[in-house]
Order: sequence, then structure tokens, then C-alpha cells
Amino acid sequence: MLAQIRNMPERKDPARNQYDYAHYQAHAAICAAIKKATGRTLILRPIWPVTDMRIFLQSHQAMHDDMNRSQGFPGTDLTKLDDEDEIARKDWGWRNYQQHQQIQNKLRIP
Ligand SMILES: [Zn+2]
Repeated sequence: MLAQIRNMPERKDPARNQYDYAHYQAHAAICAAIKKATGRTLILRPIWPVTDMRIFLQSHQAMHDDMNRSQGFPGTDLTKLDDEDEIARKDWGWRNYQQHQQIQNKLRIP
């Protein structure tokens, strides 16, 4: 699952929807693992399908803040993304991937 969110395809690429879905599934797995490990329920926000980028970025950041706080990681600001800019998209995708890797490794989610 982690490998599927390593590279974020551009919005026009048909593979982007698969990326977005895999990313949503990764968040679902993180919420389930944190519930199992701590008993705490984190809100799984509807980040798939992505229809409004502004709402996606806010909802997604809220989930990263929740999961990072729960596991004691500082996290970073993922609320800004110019999806049309390849460099910005790759940078955002990489920073998001790194946070998922950190948390998913700790929670032993593949
Ligand atoms: Zn994420």
C-alpha cells in the first residue's frame, strides 16, 4: 500500500485516481491501526474521490495532524499544493509519503 503512494501522478494521468484511492485506503488503515493500538478513534475524513482541492488539503491536513499527534511525530504543513506545478506536486507527494512511511512503519502497516 505504501509503495502505491510514493509517486503522485499529475491530475490528467488516469493513474492519479488509483493514487488518490490508495492514499485514502492508507489513511483508513492508519485510523484502524491507531484504534487497535490506543483505543482512540481518529476521524477518517472523505478524501476520496478528490473533487475540491482546497477541501481535500484541509481534510487531509486534519488527518495528518491527528495521526502525528497520536504517534508523537511533528509532521509538516501539507495544506499548500499547486497541483498544476510538477515540482510542487512532487515535493508535496514526497513529504506526504515520508509522513506515511514514518507512521505506517511504526504501526506496522505495509
Ligand atoms: Zn496522507
